[in-house]
Amino acid sequence: MHILVINSGSSSLKYQLIDMAGDRVMASGLIERIGEDMGSITQKSNPDKWPDARSVEHRPIPDHKAAMGLMVEKLIGEEWGVIGSLTDIDAVGHRVVQGGESFSSPVLVDAAVVETIRANVPLAPLHAANLVGIEAALELFPGTPNVTVFDTEFHQTMPPKAFLYPVPMDLYEELRIRKYGFHGTSHKYVTREAAKFLGKPVDGIDLITAHLGNGCSMAAVKNGRCADTTMGLTPLAGLMMGTRSGDVDPALFPFIARHKKMSVTEVDALLNKQSGLLGVCGSSDMRDVHAAREKGNETAQLAFEMFAYRVKARIGAYLAVLGRADAVVFTAGIGENDAFVRAEACAGLEGLGIKLSPERNESREPGVRRISADDSPVAVLVVPTNEELEIAHATKALVEA
Ligand code: ADP
Repeated sequence: MHILVINSGSSSLKYQLIDMAGDRVMASGLIERIGEDMGSITQKSNPDKWPDARSVEHRPIPDHKAAMGLMVEKLIGEEWGVIGSLTDIDAVGHRVVQGGESFSSPVLVDAAVVETIRANVPLAPLHAANLVGIEAALELFPGTPNVTVFDTEFHQTMPPKAFLYPVPMDLYEELRIRKYGFHGTSHKYVTREAAKFLGKPVDGIDLITAHLGNGCSMAAVKNGRCADTTMGLTPLAGLMMGTRSGDVDPALFPFIARHKKMSVTEVDALLNKQSGLLGVCGSSDMRDVHAAREKGNETAQLAFEMFAYRVKARIGAYLAVLGRADAVVFTAGIGENDAFVRAEACAGLEGLGIKLSPERNESREPGVRRISADDSPVAVLVVPTNEELEIAHATKALVEA
């Protein structure tokens, strides 16, 4: 079975074609600057055979439908292609950022599902492109099952005391203002992988999962189900991120608007795009932050400490939420690769049962690994995430059912 996983952003389209026999990535691609004067498509074909082979082409790509046509052309074509025809794609799995309260599991797309996703667009207007991608795929692959997997779905098990905001309840009833949480596909994937690694059933595992990439979020997982998470109505909430502030006093919003004479849109952009690591030290990429810190840059050092401090504080909070934990799990770009952040976030937590092994933390062994000391009551794990594979598996399961 070949499953095509699609992630469509406002001006981009990411895709992966996965051979489900062996979970092999046959091709992965990125189409960028859709709707601009000149777009580009980059595809990596047969990465297991030719790990460094990439192809890039530039041409105008007017819209998502054109982008998908181009993707198909590249997947099938002589030069970059990995399949013979469109019928070699058995199902399409779509990443959808906001499922609202309507979806707590993946679904097969039909007209009603499309309408429900459309009704949720006001909750995440920046991600309206997800729907555009689904509609383009339905046109391009009319007979093929399309499945949607939602970033919010794993977090739908949060209890009301965790997901409601202490604001007038009409706002929830009228506008569905509440905590949704994001990165759910990743938190779910690493939960299952961690349970496998620790030899426990998923529904009997308690975890604190930390997805630390450009976007960052953590989840408290009780018996394999999400009990709380750091992102909220939007991905702005919670941890400090590459360019997002994470949690700040909400009164900052009117204060900045008033004193800097900024509009709602401008303050929103300031907190989402000019804050976080970037706002504090001028670099949004943690590798650059470390490089600057090593040269003695004090704001880079501060940005690093602020980042790790917020992860640590949340580990403590979620230990209290759970009462106990089998493991703390680090994943995504920073979580998987950055021993400094992991060490700083776990430093001094021995009293809470968390004790890293410095050697294991610094080793670069691939795959799932334990980085805690043997006598650490709570295990600390690095679990590489794979959201595309999770979407492909969910798609396969639904299509086979
Ligand atoms: P996205 O949220 O865009 O998927 P990633 O999960 O790829 O992001 O994470 C990007 C972040 O991971 C960046 O801050 C980058 O600096 C960091 N990162 C990636 N590789 C490393 C590494 N080897 N060491 C430290 N940080 C890394």
